[in-house]
Amino acid sequence: MTVHPPDPPVAALATVSGVSTVAAVRVSGVGCVESVGRLFSPERGGGTKCSRELPSAERGSLLLTSKLEIPATLVRYPQGRSYTGEESVELLIPGAPVVIGALLSALEREGIYPAGPGEFTRRAFCNGRIDLTGAESVAALIAAESLEDAQAARRTLDGHLAEGVRELADQLHDTIALLEAGLDFSDQEVPPPTSEEIAARLDPVVSSLEKWLTIPDAGSQRGAPHRFLLWGRANAGKSTLLNALCGDEYAIVTPLAGTTTDPVSAQIQASSSLVEIVDLPGRQPIRDAIEESAEQIAGGMLAEGDPVFYVLDASREVDELRREWDSLPAEIRSRARPVLNQIDRLHASDLVELPNWPTRCLTSALKGEVEEVRTAIEERVQRGDSIGRAAGLFFNDRQRRGVELCRSRLERAIASSSDSDFVEPELTVVELREAHSALEEMTGELATEETLNRIFSRFCVGK
Ligand code: GDP
Repeated sequence: MTVHPPDPPVAALATVSGVSTVAAVRVSGVGCVESVGRLFSPERGGGTKCSRELPSAERGSLLLTSKLEIPATLVRYPQGRSYTGEESVELLIPGAPVVIGALLSALEREGIYPAGPGEFTRRAFCNGRIDLTGAESVAALIAAESLEDAQAARRTLDGHLAEGVRELADQLHDTIALLEAGLDFSDQEVPPPTSEEIAARLDPVVSSLEKWLTIPDAGSQRGAPHRFLLWGRANAGKSTLLNALCGDEYAIVTPLAGTTTDPVSAQIQASSSLVEIVDLPGRQPIRDAIEESAEQIAGGMLAEGDPVFYVLDASREVDELRREWDSLPAEIRSRARPVLNQIDRLHASDLVELPNWPTRCLTSALKGEVEEVRTAIEERVQRGDSIGRAAGLFFNDRQRRGVELCRSRLERAIASSSDSDFVEPELTVVELREAHSALEEMTGELATEETLNRIFSRFCVGK
């Protein structure tokens, strides 16, 4: 992380606004103890002994204007001992809005300006007091609507998620080091690891990521039915697949490309949960306004982060299938499973040639042979229900995307290392580095300014 010059002191009301017996105003930043001290007159014997290392509290009064002096308790936090990690002060004062306003104005005259939303938590993050998943869980804790949400946010704040992420990042780091040693010293005594060794190291990491992906999102989505999207090119067999899964004629099936211009959705029962399956308008070159709006609807639903079954007509050329799958946006591919449909049109010898993607499902929707998709849905729903509750962790969209990206990179790494004779370990290293970065971004070690701005802008002032 880059080292910044110390931030100037800022202040904000840390308790709810409105009338209350006591309000707390938090001030943080270098020099703030001295600046606040200029407004404060301690009462004799009114506090704990002042110490350089420990927080100390003192009763006294604050002079807000030449005519307004109010009783106050001043709590000083030395650098390294406060929420933000900076030298800080908390002022406990009578909770009247005019008094609070007068105090903030008096502080401004001392060069201490109002803090922006999330400013204190951002500083705590920049000073290494908290990682990014922790910072986000502060926001979740504030927004929690149920005790369960609050407990999950609290566990995340305690670092359970960041700890797990770091463990996986370390495992990836070891594998990268092993591969790089093989590359750098290949002419010497260090043999490159075999593809089995790589898979043995990476498979458990993928399994852990898969488990995380089944943790329900915090708050809003809990309790809603699980949703799966069917997507792919027109005529791949999405509507037929939907009908086969539902055992009913929900979607219109027709051999004309692009019939499904509106998403068609149906609910099915999977592992005693209700599951919604949505057949999205197909991917195709846009021809007219109706199809354009259909594409927009598909894009909007795809952006919501649900798992996707990407349906491909398996009777097409294998190279074309690979190209189509690779042409998907990486973020969508990371949460999509390829469904190779229409396998009834293939000979046994063609089946062996199909791309061996680790998460693929083989189906013949027309014949109702869709067991692999059904099982994939059930497994995901089952694990989502049990692991999510057991883990009791808070998970948001940003973190979920990080996990998905990491998983898809690892799958590519495993695929590249299992290519014939493992001739290109460089490729595997590239994928592993990307996977590693995705994890580091989750905890904030590699977070960009834009990510930070987006996260902290969601906070309220005073936190
Ligand atoms: P969509 O545009 O992806 O929704 O595709 P449809 O479900 O409308 O199917 C397009 C055509 O492919 C229809 O004529 C279907 O009968 C046919 N089809 C779909 N699935 C299969 C399959 O598994 N095997 C065969 N042979 N044909 C299929």
